[in-house]
Amino acid sequence: MDGKVTIEEHFALPETLGPGSSELHRRLQDFHGERIELMDRCGVAFAILSLNGPAVQAETQTAEAIDMARRANDLLAEEIGKSPGRLGGFAALPMQDPEAAICELERAVGELGLLGANVNGFSETVGPTTHLYYDRPEYRPFWAAIEKLEVPFYLHPRNPFFDDMPFFDEHPWLTYASWAYALETAMHALRLMCGGLFDDHPRLQMVLGHLGERIPFDLWRADNVLQKNPRGMPAKKTLRTYMQTNVHVSTSGQFHDPPLHLAIREMGVERVMFSIDYPYESMEQGSTWFDQAELSDADRLAIGRTNAVSLFGLEPS
Ligand code: ZN
Repeated sequence: MDGKVTIEEHFALPETLGPGSSELHRRLQDFHGERIELMDRCGVAFAILSLNGPAVQAETQTAEAIDMARRANDLLAEEIGKSPGRLGGFAALPMQDPEAAICELERAVGELGLLGANVNGFSETVGPTTHLYYDRPEYRPFWAAIEKLEVPFYLHPRNPFFDDMPFFDEHPWLTYASWAYALETAMHALRLMCGGLFDDHPRLQMVLGHLGERIPFDLWRADNVLQKNPRGMPAKKTLRTYMQTNVHVSTSGQFHDPPLHLAIREMGVERVMFSIDYPYESMEQGSTWFDQAELSDADRLAIGRTNAVSLFGLEPS
């Protein structure tokens, strides 16, 4: 399929490259070379880029987090301008300081033309609370601001802190994307939903990668248990309602028909969008799978292009 739009693709600053091969590092810092060649070859018309993770979220010094987010967003906006019509961007945000996150979001969207926010899970900080999850009350002004701007919030994975998770002991292969990313990210998304965030901000739109970080698979069971015994849960509606009203999912790194069909069944085809997770995943593999996935022509067009066009207000080539 030509004209595809992808929404979870990454770049890096020199200090956020992280572990990986020199080839991966080269691809993370390439905007207009191999990246655009691959897009042309794979039928991807437009890609929305975001800073790789955990980057800003792992910076325990708030001033450093604010500075890193600004530099990342300035670089991204500058590079987007060099490949007009092909690249868009999400803002990185210093969530360690909710007021600073609001300021940077407003600058990134209003002045730089970025299309929303992509945040790499919880933010680290010094002090008694080392993990900042965004269901905390101090983030309510942030959520009000992003709802008012009418731009999506992409909750991107990161590793949890394994010191507190003995079930990972001696099984390091289950960290990162094989299992831990979805575990951490699903918990964060469920905290936001169960905490009543979308009751107070009903127009807020959140995006989850990897076909919903496994939430669609367990949606019926979680709702069935919570409706019978909510145990003081603040949320007024079912998780299914939020997943069908306030959440979108992308296919990043999940190139397989059954979970795609499950997400469509549980959330509606209009809430599913194509993505790769390049350069951590192969653009050829993701595109080849999607082009041949068992979908009607109308659903392939919606997931591959028009859902993202309408959510982000795009005018791609
Ligand atoms: Zn990613």
